[in-house]
Amino acid sequence: MKVLLLGGTGEARELAGLLAKAGVEVVSSLAGRTADARVPVGEVRVGGFGGVGGLAGWLREHRVDAVIDATHPFAANITANAVAATREVGTPLLVLRRPGWAPEPGDNWHWVDSASGAAELLPGLGTRVFLTVGRQGLDAFAGTGLRTLARCVDPPEPRPTWCTLILARGPFTVADEETILRDHGIDVLVTKDSGGPATTAKLTAARRLAIPVVVIHRPALPAGPEVVETVAEAVQWVMRASHSPST
Ligand code: NAP
Repeated sequence: MKVLLLGGTGEARELAGLLAKAGVEVVSSLAGRTADARVPVGEVRVGGFGGVGGLAGWLREHRVDAVIDATHPFAANITANAVAATREVGTPLLVLRRPGWAPEPGDNWHWVDSASGAAELLPGLGTRVFLTVGRQGLDAFAGTGLRTLARCVDPPEPRPTWCTLILARGPFTVADEETILRDHGIDVLVTKDSGGPATTAKLTAARRLAIPVVVIHRPALPAGPEVVETVAEAVQWVMRASHSPST
């Protein structure tokens, strides 16, 4: 059984380890955008496939039995490509998507559909903004005129001059996040609905300091593939697929 695991997330790394332990041949695929990325165990390939056709060709050439898309909930292009390419080749596809976040009592969240929607809403909510939307999402906020602090893992290129940058990779503690919010006088936080426990400390810190949060909705998943929320369910799916007569 040979699985192509589209990764770039903590869940993908965990899944690669569990499948390797179970004796499944796994090739993890990374986009290659993060310098010093955390690399999963086992075989790893890096870089885009060249669209749907490139991915379909790769699946054929490497005789892949199943694909798992465990990419980030906002990595919509590779997910769409995986759906189209597996459909073309006839390869089973599973999408592993961690659940999104839900507000808790005391939260003051404002949901929007896009980064530009968040930028439009900001002036009505605050004047000192903390952006935690990743470096690819920064540009939408360049014209707000608000004092802005942005945190990214890798530096954006070109380096923006309209905001202050913090380069750091989580997970962060609630105390870390409270310190940032206080030290920079932040009065509104912007985040994508990434979900999962690794980056929730900022939400807890915002709740404690009564800071409003603008939350960007996830892109919708394409119709078709089976979707699970946990690494354990993904392992079970592979085990079932490996015992099915067609693989
Ligand atoms: P994207 O917009 O969906 O993908 C853009 C292109 O990058 C894809 O068309 C594909 O190129 C290539 N690509 C993306 N993921 C790939 C993978 N795992 N293996 C091989 N090629 C991949 O994705 P993105 O938002 O730029 O994210 C890139 C990677 O970073 C993903 O693997 C994702 O899990 C991770 N990540 C993303 C975010 C986020 O907020 N978007 C956050 C944390 C981690 P081709 O068309 O040439 O195949």
